[in-house]
Amino acid sequence: MTAPTDPATRDELVATVRRFVERDVLPVASELEHADEYPAGLVATMRDLGLFGVTVAPEFGGLGLDLRTYVGIVEELAAGWMSLSGILNTHVMVANLISGNGTPEQQRGWLPALASGEVRGALSLSEPDAGSDTGALSCRAARDGDEYVITGTKAWVTNGERAGLVALAARTDEGITCFLVGKEPGRHVDGITVSRAIGKLGYKGLETVEMVYDGHRVPADAVLGGEAGLGRGRHFILGGLEVGRINIAARAVGVARAAFDAAIRYAQQRQTFGQPIAQHQAIQLKLADMATKLEAARLLTLSAADRRDAGERCDVEAGMAKLFASEAALEIATESMRIHGGVGYTTELPIERFYRDAPLMIIGEGTNEIQRLVIARGLLRRHAVE
Ligand SMILES: Cc1cc2nc3c(=O)[nH]c(=O)nc-3n(C[C@H](O)[C@H](O)[C@H](O)COP(=O)(O)OP(=O)(O)OC[C@H]3O[C@@H](n4cnc5c(N)ncnc54)[C@H](O)[C@@H]3O)c2cc1C
Repeated sequence: MTAPTDPATRDELVATVRRFVERDVLPVASELEHADEYPAGLVATMRDLGLFGVTVAPEFGGLGLDLRTYVGIVEELAAGWMSLSGILNTHVMVANLISGNGTPEQQRGWLPALASGEVRGALSLSEPDAGSDTGALSCRAARDGDEYVITGTKAWVTNGERAGLVALAARTDEGITCFLVGKEPGRHVDGITVSRAIGKLGYKGLETVEMVYDGHRVPADAVLGGEAGLGRGRHFILGGLEVGRINIAARAVGVARAAFDAAIRYAQQRQTFGQPIAQHQAIQLKLADMATKLEAARLLTLSAADRRDAGERCDVEAGMAKLFASEAALEIATESMRIHGGVGYTTELPIERFYRDAPLMIIGEGTNEIQRLVIARGLLRRHAVE
């Protein structure tokens, strides 16, 4: 359970992030994205705003704000450039994993540096042959005295190269265990190699990499939750994915909002057949559907965040928000491109970026096919017939 953030504090921070996006992000987002360039200056400002510690408790140097506030921040960032919310997402998930499941030493050891953004977090569950099927992980951690020796290849590690801490799922004798692997940012460090940067359709400017652990040693106290955490890694990470899915939903709302705002503006400026295209009923129908889906996506996202803030299980609600909002974002980005006609297809406007960024949300944090399975299982559990 998270203490609700005072609405005035929430509104002020979200408005601050909106001003940051308007002033600093929008003028450079497309250029940086096309160059696939890491936005170091923007990340520095995000650090100054305290965003890396947004959900970390104040006793560890964070802002200690609720998930509803985080959702508001993510929507603003993604409306400017979705990649900025990706730089934050796995970091916040790692901080939440430690806040919720770490030993007091792990919390004291990692949370202050994560909260300030001095150390950046990455979450490493997926492998080349284990994405949806998280039970098929093959990365191993073998006990050797006071240490574990990690061997295996992890795929799709967003922020992996720049991270100073990777929350890594590996197989131990007890099952799947989550390790807090501290490392220096970089490509080759202490038995960890960033073997490949994965090229992407969108979501550029931040790295998504493959990482090889070749007998990398970590102390035994790197097990998240200590000895009691052995074999509970999958449980911890899948619990953390609720926040990840709410993040994806909020991102989708941000991208969808940007695509809708651009469309409704353009529809009133562009003239065909002697009138603004907004006067053609075919365009009006599109705008109405887009706005309705956007509003529904935002409400589902906030509702899931509120449930999580209240300390209730929200796998069904987070899944519904992620499923609906991501499909809505994909549709709204496509409709925005249609409304813009030819110019929507060019690199002169950000519509093509929304169109390329949106599909990630139907895949990341569990594909939408898996999402439906999660929702159905949760519903069957809640509505079980004796
Ligand atoms: C840009 C990007 C960044 C990422 N960042 C991270 C990260 O930081 N950390 C991390 O751990 N992972 C990350 N991922 C991995 C992501 O979570 C996986 O890609 C995703 O879970 C899907 O796994 P997969 O790619 O192996 O697809 P697969 O599991 O191979 O799925 C292929 C297809 O089969 C479908 N499918 C699979 N099983 C079933 C089933 N039982 N029923 C019905 N359909 C099914 C899927 O829905 C999909 O359509 C990232 C992925 C991308 C693209």
